[in-house]
Amino acid sequence: MNSFDYQTPRTIDEALALLSEHGDEARVIAGGTALVTMMRQRLVQPGCLVSLRDVEGLGGIEASKGEIRLGALTTHREVEVSPLVKERAPVLAETYGKVATVRIRHMATVGGSLAHADPNQDPPVTLMALDAKAEIRRTGGRREVPLSAFFRDYYETVLEPGELVTAVSVPPLPAASGAAYVKFLPRSAEDYATVSVAATVTLDTGGERCREGRIALGSVAPTPVRARAAEALLADGRLDERLLRAVGEAAKGEVNPLTDHRGSAEYKREMTAVMVGRALSQAWEAARRALR
Ligand SMILES: Cc1cc2nc3c(=O)[nH]c(=O)nc-3n(C[C@H](O)[C@H](O)[C@H](O)COP(=O)(O)OP(=O)(O)OC[C@H]3O[C@@H](n4cnc5c(N)ncnc54)[C@H](O)[C@@H]3O)c2cc1C
Repeated sequence: MNSFDYQTPRTIDEALALLSEHGDEARVIAGGTALVTMMRQRLVQPGCLVSLRDVEGLGGIEASKGEIRLGALTTHREVEVSPLVKERAPVLAETYGKVATVRIRHMATVGGSLAHADPNQDPPVTLMALDAKAEIRRTGGRREVPLSAFFRDYYETVLEPGELVTAVSVPPLPAASGAAYVKFLPRSAEDYATVSVAATVTLDTGGERCREGRIALGSVAPTPVRARAAEALLADGRLDERLLRAVGEAAKGEVNPLTDHRGSAEYKREMTAVMVGRALSQAWEAARRALR
């Protein structure tokens, strides 16, 4: 590993000032689970690491204006076990609980998981289906970016040099809604997904038809993706075998997987259709339970 300067700012403003001062030489470090590996492999060689560990105001999980706000430094484990998250968005707690091992979940952070932008990660898929937004700060400015517009390519996001992810806000689902996250991982329980799907279903007042549904897919494209054409088929649909098959087929047209050690592109495309069906069935059941 190359030698580097290690900075430990105490406030967000100090962290942002260090990032501006050191420009391309600087890299933020949060949990370090991805960055340290990349440094060991010499994929990145920052001259200055700006640690977020001691920065006040970046951690914590809050309910704010009906939304859940996850501070960027919140660990995956904290989201997984949070009573607030379990009550308001149980699918989010379940998703973070499916990441790797408990050791990794104690280190990896909400902000690091987004900024790293590995398309095989779990949380961005569910956050995208829940219409979450990333809060981004730079010296003298702040913006919010919907997760559907946050990822650009493999390991690439809209973050500009000098910007920090400071939080993620997750709006509530409409009434009579349910959500599910399914992760297909045929090798071992702590592996990255071969295909993953997050789905939401909102029922009409009678509970028979789907008013609206959202589908986000992971591990099958350069970024997590919303399957908009597949979602369109759900509106006013009755969620039976025929519709599930049609939605799964439509989702296959919206992916662009790589052939790798987890499977061929063709296999992942087929598994996308299967997993979309499973996620929707589970979300549908959860929505029915919400109606009772
Ligand atoms: C063995 C192993 C298995 C894993 N398996 C899975 C899995 O199955 N599913 C899954 O979802 N994840 C998995 N992960 C975790 C995931 O791949 C990332 O390592 C993790 O989410 C990164 O979070 P971090 O806080 O450690 O980020 P870091 O390693 O600290 O940083 C990662 C990147 O994000 C930048 N960064 C960090 N925080 C911010 C911020 N607030 N604002 C701007 N930039 C920031 C850093 O500069 C760096 O470029 C696994 C990790 C390991 C090591």
